[in-house]
This record gives sequence, C-alpha cells and structure tokens, in this order.
Amino acid sequence: MKHRLHFFAFLTLVILFHTTTWGQEPISNEPLPKVHIIATGGTIAGTSTDIGYDAGKVSIETILQAVPELTHYAELDYEQFCNIGSQDMSESIWLPLAKRVNQVLESGKYDAVLITHGTDTMEETAFFLNLTIHSPKPVILVGAMRPSDAVDADGPANLLKAVQTIVKPDAVGKDVMCCLGGKVYEAGAAFKNDTHSLDPIAETSVDWYLPHNANTGFFVDNLKELPEVGIVYGYGSSSTVAFEALVNAGYKGIVFAGVGDGNLNQATLDLAAKAVKSGVMIVRSSRITYGGVYTEGGEVDDEKLGFIASGSLNPQKSRILLMLALTATRDIDVIRSYFRQGVFTQVVELPGVSNARQLGGYIIGDKKVRMDFTFAKRKPFQCLLLFRKAVPLFGIRMIRTSFGVTESRHRSHLNDIITLDSLF
Ligand code: ASP
Repeated sequence: MKHRLHFFAFLTLVILFHTTTWGQEPISNEPLPKVHIIATGGTIAGTSTDIGYDAGKVSIETILQAVPELTHYAELDYEQFCNIGSQDMSESIWLPLAKRVNQVLESGKYDAVLITHGTDTMEETAFFLNLTIHSPKPVILVGAMRPSDAVDADGPANLLKAVQTIVKPDAVGKDVMCCLGGKVYEAGAAFKNDTHSLDPIAETSVDWYLPHNANTGFFVDNLKELPEVGIVYGYGSSSTVAFEALVNAGYKGIVFAGVGDGNLNQATLDLAAKAVKSGVMIVRSSRITYGGVYTEGGEVDDEKLGFIASGSLNPQKSRILLMLALTATRDIDVIRSYFRQGVFTQVVELPGVSNARQLGGYIIGDKKVRMDFTFAKRKPFQCLLLFRKAVPLFGIRMIRTSFGVTESRHRSHLNDIITLDSLF
C-alpha cells in the first residue's frame, strides 16, 4: 500500500510538472490586456466555392472559435463592423472605422485594437488609420491569403501572431501595424507585392515615420465625406482620356502614377498644368516600387508647374494623404510639407528660430525629433547647431535624419550628415 501511495505521489508530481511546462502559457495573476476586435471581412473571413472562394462570408465569432489560444494572451471582445472583400473598402467605411477605433481607445476600457481585413487594400486602411487615430495604443490589421475553411488556412496563425504582438509593451506608440505571413509590418512602409504568396507584404523605405498619437495626423470626427481624389496610371504612349475624365468630373485632386521618377508625357503634363490652374491638386507619384519621387534632381519643375512630389508614398497612399490634406488646407506648401515630412501638429521651437519648420524639424511621438535637411534649405551644420541646443531644452532622445539612402542621385550631398545621430 505504502508503495502504491508513493507511486501515486510520484505520478501526481509528473503530471503537475508536465502541466506547467508543456501545457498552456504559465498562468500569471496579472490581468490580461484587453483587446477589442473589429471585423471587416476579407479572405480571413472567406469560404471556398467551386471556382475558388468568396471573401467576407464568415462571422468574427466563427473565426475566433478556430483559435482558442488567443485567450491565453488577451481578454477579447469583438464586433462585426462589416463583412466585405477589401476591394470594396471605401471612404464611407474608413471614416466611421477611424471614428470607432478612436472611440474604443479613448474609452479607457481597452489596451489595443485588432482589425480583421482583406489583404488587397490593407495597406490603404492601415495608412488611413495611421493618419487619423489619436491614441498611442497599438492598432493592428490582420488578414489571410487562404479562406477560413481551407485545410491549411493561414488566418489562425496570423491572428495569434497579431494578438501576441499588440499585447507587448513595445507595441505602444508604433505606426498602425499589418500582420500577414506570420510577420508584422508598419503601415507607412507596408504594401502588397504578391497576388498569391502566403507572405504577400513587402516594405519600402519611408521618408517619415508617423506613430499615431494625440499630436499627429488629421482629425476626422466631424467629417462626413472626403474630397474626391483619383489615380491615373502612366504608361508608354499614355492617353489623356482618364486624366481628363477626372478633371471634368470635378475631382479635387489627381495622383499620377507616373513612369520612372514620376514622369508624365507631354500631353499629360500640359493637361495637368492646366488642371492646377483650375484648382486641382496634382501629386506626382510613380508606378515604380522603390526610390520615391522628389522635386530635386528630377525632370519636372514642380515649383513652376504647381505639382506636388509624392516622396516615398506610392500612388494609393498618396491618394489617401491628399484626400486628408484637402480636408485641412488648400495651401500647396503645407500639403508639400505633409508629403515631405509627415503631418505633425507640434513643432520644435528653438531660440532664434521663429518656427522650426524652417529647419525641417518636428517632434514626433515621445520627444523624438524628425529632421529634413533638404527641406530646411539650410546647410546641414546650421541645422545641426540649432538642434543641438534642443537636446538639453527638450530632453530629446533621438534624431532621425530624413534619408537613410545616400547613393540616390538626388541626395548624394547628404552623405556627410548621415552619422549625425551619434553626436546626440
Ligand atoms: N480580395 C480579398 C480581400 O482583400 C483578398 C484577401 O483578403 O486576401 O478582401
């Protein structure tokens, strides 16, 4: 009998040991972070059909049931905001969605928001939210490339990764994020670059970095609609028909997805210059993925023609920024600065400088300064001397230079300032 008791005691210990090391995450007494899920549809909510699948069919409740592990990381609640393929995403959803996310985060009841979304336009929604959410709490969009009923659906693992990401303390104050292929990307850089891969998002380098917080971006609470802005795609022997159609339809802005360095053929250039005179804002972006479009060193005289260069933003993100910009101003210099430096409501004030915008310097997020030496139109060392004064004055911890890339033909003169960060 005694032996049997020893045996059972031993067995109990083995089971206990197993439960804590191999079972669920260690149980902690800390309350779990609270995450609110807003479901909008996409392939993650899709179901198979005879020819492929339909997006936006399954409810968020069903999606969550497939991933019980989520509750180890967060306390979740959810709402079905809409259930569509993200090819049908539009301003009429973006505006109430941004308002809803702001409301949820301001309520004080939640630590983060997770949005399920189709992958086709995820980068656009993420960028829109990045410019309109005024809380540093984490916001992440998550999708899938296979429908929810596929044997090897990728949605569950992406959901788990997304929840694990936003409950971490270092997710606070980041850009809005996108989670796909088990990876996490920031909204400014993310773009879809593969129509079929399970890992369909890539990143470009971005000129400006914009964590959403109380002092950045646009306020959409009182907006019912956004100004109409369209995109026209450039190609060899581009016709002007599409461009003209948008002007005649009364569009307030046109983004041209130009060839190469944002170039337009002569007929389109003439039309665009005429459109500027009739009050249409024209942004030159590019159909090329990397490198961006800048006024300096290119073939188009933006100053003379009244165009705006898109910087590192692709056409679809340029469209979003232009729509939002037009809700705030029609001053072309201000809109140019949005494209060049981001949208900040707080600037660094320095002794002897009436407005630090002249130096291309902005405080972003938690006392980080963003500088754009080229935009400042001053010699880098002048900017540097003035900004050095800002360190003790503002307790600034980090300086980011505008461009990390120095080999570009536009920016080779920035070579010598690239290591300035270390001086601070
Ligand atoms: N068309 C789908 C959507 O964007 C594609 C996807 O989610 O992967 O909703």
